[in-house]
Amino acid sequence: MNWFKHLLDIIYPRSCEACEESLLGGEHLICVKCIIDLPRTNSHIDAIESISKRFWGKIPIANTITYLKFSKKGKVQKLLHKLKYRNKPEVGVFLGKLYGIDLKSVAFEKKIDLLIGVPLHPTKLRQRGYNQADCIAEGLSMALEIPFETSAVNRIIHTDSQTKKSRYERFQNVENIFEVKDMEKIKDKRIAIVDDVLTTGSTIESLAAMLLNEGCKDISVITIATAE
Ligand SMILES: [Zn+2]
Repeated sequence: MNWFKHLLDIIYPRSCEACEESLLGGEHLICVKCIIDLPRTNSHIDAIESISKRFWGKIPIANTITYLKFSKKGKVQKLLHKLKYRNKPEVGVFLGKLYGIDLKSVAFEKKIDLLIGVPLHPTKLRQRGYNQADCIAEGLSMALEIPFETSAVNRIIHTDSQTKKSRYERFQNVENIFEVKDMEKIKDKRIAIVDDVLTTGSTIESLAAMLLNEGCKDISVITIATAE
C-alpha cells in the first residue's frame, strides 16, 4: 500500500510537528532529524540534582527524571505547546513512546509498577478534550510494557493559574486537590507520576503525598521537560 501512502502525502502533505518540514514516507509526526536532535537530558542515566532537589525536604521521591531540555521558543516548547493547546494528543503519545524506548534500554520498567498521569479537573478535561499527561503515560506504557491508569485518582479542585502566586501560596493552593477513587489500584504499587512539564513541583508533590498516604509503595516522577 506504499503507493497509496505516497498518494496521500501528495494530496495531504504531512509536516513535522517540530520543524514543519515535509515528512517522508516512513516518518510519523516528528521527522527523523528532529528525533535525533531532541535535546535529551539523560537524567535516567545520570540523575540531575537541580531537578530532583525540587522535592528534597518535602516528599520522598524514588526517581525524578525528565526527558528533554526546555528552551524558550525551541522545538521542545513548540511540541509541548501543540500537545497542550493545539489539539494534538498524538504528540504526547509519541513523545511518551520515544522516552519509553530510552528508559527501556536501562530497564527502568523494573523500578515501577504503574503509570499515572497528573489528573485534570473534569471541567478542564472537557474543555481540552483529553489529558495531555495521560497521553504521555499511554506512550510510556506502550514502550515500557507496564500499565497506565486513568481512573484511580480524581482531581477534585480546579486550581487557578499559579503564575502570580508565591511559592507558599502555591503550595496552599494545591493541598488536597486530589482524591483516590480506587484504593485497590494503587495499594503497594510503585507508581510513576507522569506530567508534561515539571515546574515548581507543587502539584506533583500534592498528588505524591496523597498516594503515599493511601498506601502506595513509592513514587517516581517522569516528565517530558522541566521549566527553570
Ligand atoms: Zn522535523
